[in-house]
Amino acid sequence: MTEGEWTARVSFSDEPAAPGATPAGELVGPPLGTERAPIVRPVDLEEQIDADAAKVVRRLARSGFEAYLVGGCVRDLLLGKTPKDFDVATSARPDDVRRIFRNSRIIGRRFRLVHVLFGGNKVIETATFRRAPREGARPGDDLLIRNDNVFGEAYEDAERRDFTINGLFYDVERRCLLDWVGGLRDVEARAVRTIGDPTTRFLEDPVRMLRAIKFSARCDCGISPEVYDAVVACRGALAMAAKPRLFEEMLRLMRGGAAHRSMWLAWELGILDVLLPELSSHLSDCEDTVFWRLMTELDRHTAEVSAPVDDVTYWTTLLLEPMLEACAGEEDRMAAAADFLEPIIDRLNVPRRIADAVARIVSVLPRLERGQAGRFGRTPLGPLAQEVQRLSAASRGRAPSEPVVAGGPAAPVEPAAAPKKRRRRRPRSAAASPHDDG
Ligand code: ATP
Ligand code: MG
Repeated sequence: MTEGEWTARVSFSDEPAAPGATPAGELVGPPLGTERAPIVRPVDLEEQIDADAAKVVRRLARSGFEAYLVGGCVRDLLLGKTPKDFDVATSARPDDVRRIFRNSRIIGRRFRLVHVLFGGNKVIETATFRRAPREGARPGDDLLIRNDNVFGEAYEDAERRDFTINGLFYDVERRCLLDWVGGLRDVEARAVRTIGDPTTRFLEDPVRMLRAIKFSARCDCGISPEVYDAVVACRGALAMAAKPRLFEEMLRLMRGGAAHRSMWLAWELGILDVLLPELSSHLSDCEDTVFWRLMTELDRHTAEVSAPVDDVTYWTTLLLEPMLEACAGEEDRMAAAADFLEPIIDRLNVPRRIADAVARIVSVLPRLERGQAGRFGRTPLGPLAQEVQRLSAASRGRAPSEPVVAGGPAAPVEPAAAPKKRRRRRPRSAAASPHDDG
């Protein structure tokens, strides 16, 4: 399909274009059954769009290809957030893109995409439209996607994406959004809804359950009731997901400045029972409120510091409370910390470097709290341990390095972080945010 043909197919209305309709030359639908027409909504995002990303899209279009901004950048712009990066999807094949941009390189072996490089280490990721590989799967089939490397059309590329709010395409040239998946409706409702049946989509790729939490927590969206129920039903499938992806996605839950909301949702949905049962049973047994205040402090810290927070700080903070419990009264705290971490390392593929650092920091924390950092304070881990100690102290309402009063009550830090009653595994409406803080 050439660009000219495509232009003629798009109607500038809020309604889905009827396939096959030909009103006044304004719209020509595709042959029936071959393609769905999008809702097209004029929106001017020109001012907020990265100039280099716009350049990539325009040059591809001038070369005769379809090209759009897609995914997280469109979602974030519509939700009033600053996008982390700008991704492009195009009908051009990787070799075409490479040919058009001298400042580019092809990456990936299984699925090849192109990085178009600009000054200041900016990368505009440019991917060829792909389609979902498993059309016509029968009930009872193993749904796990193992190969998603099939090129497709723009609408197929929208439909293969995970959530409707992530499936919107922005046409830079015509300044309009193309919506094949109901993303506009859900951006307005601030609802996380899968594209297609949630159970199917989660069994295809269980990591999407963690992504649902991430987008709900970060973008302040509700999880739609059917998605919520499907996560509860499918959460066990997370045990089948690739461990490095689980590790990375858990980190992303903490990195985005919404660790408190993310972990609350993960606990409430029963995901912590699968991925970090050590933490979830600690939370259930202790009615632990320090943990939640720690997450609030972590979010505050993430928002305040200019440099990215180290992954070691995130993992140590996440596991701190159950680890302190596991180490309490142990003569060899390092050995107790390492024993605690062993099954987690195995379950989530935690790199040894990170696990060793977490164990070390937790084991020396009481010394740090007594202001006795000693030589450890001058090791590379010293500053990270101090960072964790400050977060821990703040969550207990103490000044950093103030001596610990064993078993002493933890003073609330702020009203918003007050203890909450645990409510679990109950579907909630998309409109209701599960949190009033974080
Ligand atoms: P972030 O701001 O965290 O980067 P993002 O939406 O850009 O959010 P990415 O992981 O960068 O998330 O993925 C880019 C896009 O690719 C998503 O918006 C989504 O459309 C699609 N995508 C990513 N992961 C999946 C997945 N597991 N299944 C289906 N689509 C996915
Ligand atoms: Mg992204």
